[in-house]
Amino acid sequence: MTDATAHNLAWVQEILEDFWRTAPSNSLHLPGDEKAWEMPRLAVARGDDPWFARLKEMIGPFYWTPAEAFALAFPEAPAAPAELSVLSYVLPQTAATRRDQAQERELPAERWARSRFFGEQFNCDLRLHLAANLSAAGYPAVAPERLPGFDYRQSEGFGLASNWSERHTAFVAGLGTFGLSDGLITPWGKAVRFGSVVTKLALPASARPYGEDHQAWCLWHARGTCGVCARRCPVDAITTAAGHDKKSCHAYIREVTTPYTTKTFGTGATPCGLCQVRIPCEARVPL
Ligand code: SF4
Ligand code: SF4
Repeated sequence: MTDATAHNLAWVQEILEDFWRTAPSNSLHLPGDEKAWEMPRLAVARGDDPWFARLKEMIGPFYWTPAEAFALAFPEAPAAPAELSVLSYVLPQTAATRRDQAQERELPAERWARSRFFGEQFNCDLRLHLAANLSAAGYPAVAPERLPGFDYRQSEGFGLASNWSERHTAFVAGLGTFGLSDGLITPWGKAVRFGSVVTKLALPASARPYGEDHQAWCLWHARGTCGVCARRCPVDAITTAAGHDKKSCHAYIREVTTPYTTKTFGTGATPCGLCQVRIPCEARVPL
């Protein structure tokens, strides 16, 4: 890492932390004005990391590489993959949100529903704020998830899949590996959300401590033990035999948890996340 790239990294982390500290939207909108998230943690992937092309091959031709997302935002000045850095960050759930959610067995807790709705609104603001700050400083940047073309398609191998995945990007950046439930297990656990920005700024790529093993930190995949997330799902949408059944999961969220939280808490979005707490990987790497 050169002095210049280390300085750039510290500057990006400061943009994230400053917005996390001061943005009014980082709130659960409860009395006492609790923050929606713990402090964001940042990692960086190279724009030409071979994993991005591999993901496109696995998920489908509709999936964007960082350079493709960048070219959609800056069609007059596209960049080569090697000129780009991919910033990926984790927003951990607060201890209070995890504690409340851990008491629930069938429906999401109020704090969880609020973090999914208000917290994700903050996450959208954070992506755009980071991209705008970088661009204003002379380093063009885009948050792919905020591009007008962001949407979901049917992938042959993965079912319904988006054309930019925050979780897969976080994996490439070294932030975690996939668990039995499909969630990403990070050093701050699985009760987290992610965001990312692609920018034409030289930054040091973060280490990927698990190498190429995309399931290294899950007890089931690594040792054949645990499976607690499967027992936490009220509709058996996770099994040790077949992993995560997206169809059952989405049906439960669409038909049960979303109408419940909308009616009970007045929040929108599509919360559930019972499988993300009261598990060994809730707030840490369990190995
Ligand atoms: S709860 Fe256990 S089986 Fe499920 S993702 Fe975490 S470590 Fe893996
Ligand atoms: S998010 Fe899906 S897999 Fe997880 S507990 Fe809810 S329904 Fe089950």
